[in-house]
Amino acid sequence: MVAKAELHCHIEGAASPDLVVVQARKYGVDTSSFLRDGAYIWHDFTSFLAAYDAAAGLFRTEEDYALLAEDYLTGLARDGAIYSEIFISPDHAGKAGLSPGAYADALGEGIVRARASTGIEGRMIVTGIRHFGASSVMAAARFAAGCGHRLVTGFGMAGEERFGHPRDYVGAFDMAREAGLGTTVHAGELAGWESVAAALDHIRPARIGHGVRAIENPDLVRRLADERVVLEVCPVSNVTLKVFADFASHPLPQLLAAGCRVTLNSDDPPHFHTSLAHEYAVAARVFDLDDNALAGLTRTALEAAFIDEATRAMLLRRLGDKAVAP
Ligand SMILES: [Zn+2]
Repeated sequence: MVAKAELHCHIEGAASPDLVVVQARKYGVDTSSFLRDGAYIWHDFTSFLAAYDAAAGLFRTEEDYALLAEDYLTGLARDGAIYSEIFISPDHAGKAGLSPGAYADALGEGIVRARASTGIEGRMIVTGIRHFGASSVMAAARFAAGCGHRLVTGFGMAGEERFGHPRDYVGAFDMAREAGLGTTVHAGELAGWESVAAALDHIRPARIGHGVRAIENPDLVRRLADERVVLEVCPVSNVTLKVFADFASHPLPQLLAAGCRVTLNSDDPPHFHTSLAHEYAVAARVFDLDDNALAGLTRTALEAAFIDEATRAMLLRRLGDKAVAP
């Protein structure tokens, strides 16, 4: 089995239906409006967000969040992953009445537990929510830059890509960069290629979340390859949300062929009825990538990981070991 690594997964969106059922029992909440037969149910973007928020709302205490991270990373390790970066959102924790510090500590505890039982390495990327506005994203950056948690190694921005302009968020990203954090921003998913170009021009991130609609502009694809910007590509999410009509029209193979640095990711896995392992299986089956090519995607993810060099070298060694194992 090819070793896997993931850079783009929203931890609240990764809560497995089984864990959500346990949490719902704990809090006496009826899940029939968003869970059926062990799977999330939704039919449009509004009901998707409702299901997402209903599930996320079942994580309230520090122990709940520790369990969430532990459960996700343990499952990921079972599927052959050796590294995972999760997007964490202090805004979610605020709704539950937890301080950003307590929330990050709790998720960090879950990462430590998963590492102890499986060996998987995990890190956290604090994300601001774009449509909450520049001051909210700045507050998230201030927290990320100042929290001092050893597993918080990145800063990102998610949320509605069509809200505001990247220049509104430059200060937040500059603060994160100056604090030594890696940077990533969602662009080129629901918004077109221009959103990717604007993110590159103004925010100058090391990685782009999605970025797949860069394919609409060949010059931009060339620029991404030349500047070695890493794309966190989430094929099943893209097809489920109809960013592309089907896998046949998904641009992952073209981006790879153009020399772009591409990684495979699951985004909000159970909501899209996917997992990191499923993304690798889809890439093998639909995009015809063999084990060598899949290992190459893992290598790109490890090279682009927001992690110290000693751990990166260790993970690359593990990838090499696994790649030659039967
Ligand atoms: Zn995302």
